[in-house]
Amino acid sequence: MSDSPETTKVALVSGGTRGIGRGVVLRLAADGYDVSFCYASNADAAAELEKEVLALGRRVFSQQADVSDMAAVRSWVSGTEEALGPIDAAVTSAGITRDNPLLLMKDEDWQRVIQVNLDGVYNVCRTVIYEMMKRKSGSIVNLSSVAGVYGNATQTNYSASKAGIIGFTKSLAKEVGRYGIRANVVAPGFIDTDMTSALNEKVIEQAKNQIPLRRVGTVDEVADLVSYLVADRASYITGAVLQIDGGIHL
Ligand code: NAP
Repeated sequence: MSDSPETTKVALVSGGTRGIGRGVVLRLAADGYDVSFCYASNADAAAELEKEVLALGRRVFSQQADVSDMAAVRSWVSGTEEALGPIDAAVTSAGITRDNPLLLMKDEDWQRVIQVNLDGVYNVCRTVIYEMMKRKSGSIVNLSSVAGVYGNATQTNYSASKAGIIGFTKSLAKEVGRYGIRANVVAPGFIDTDMTSALNEKVIEQAKNQIPLRRVGTVDEVADLVSYLVADRASYITGAVLQIDGGIHL
């Protein structure tokens, strides 16, 4: 039997329909959270995921919302609060790539990646933070990337957005720690999702050769780390950048 709404925590996940976000939705539901997620366009995937969360005995809310659009994010967050109650945890996983060497970078690809990846994190965090501050509790996990830590050729736009997320989250952690709110970054290396399957086989093989564990990571491995970080088990961790990358940084 599921817990009463008063005792169940509520988690918000951006970009929940696929990849890491989807894994996080299912993991947090299995952990006992009611879960709300947004997505860009994949309504069928959203409906399927809702069913899976309900099958785990948790309540679920989903809405199409482009995270780069503040009005859409506000609508998603207020819909979540009406449907599920106040938000205890927010995970930002919505993200895109538009790779090219800088010389060939289109202005719109620079702008779109910054808008979705970095503005999107701002929009979600800006929208949830006031209620968390009022309740003097909350936990935020933002998905960055090893590209945001070390840089990556052909990813100036993506790396800039992901480095921005790190600076943003560390600053936020300093601002809101006194309100009992934690903010952390998870920075994955190569994880097996649609985002990486779009890369050609040669690039993936080259990457594997640079990874001491000699394989790409799984969505479940990342979801496990997010599950740990959002929960009270991680109550003394804030402002951290946790890499999950098979040792690619070594
Ligand atoms: P993915 O498989 O491509 O899934 C992206 C998800 O984000 C989808 O649910 C998509 O919704 C949603 N989304 C995309 N643009 C959106 C927008 N404007 N507004 C709302 N939702 C949007 O990506 P992933 O590989 O799981 O990556 C998740 C996060 O981890 C990203 O921030 C990525 O940068 C980061 N990351 C991934 C890797 C990796 O190796 N996969 C490595 C490092 C960091 P639709 O289904 O509707 O399109």
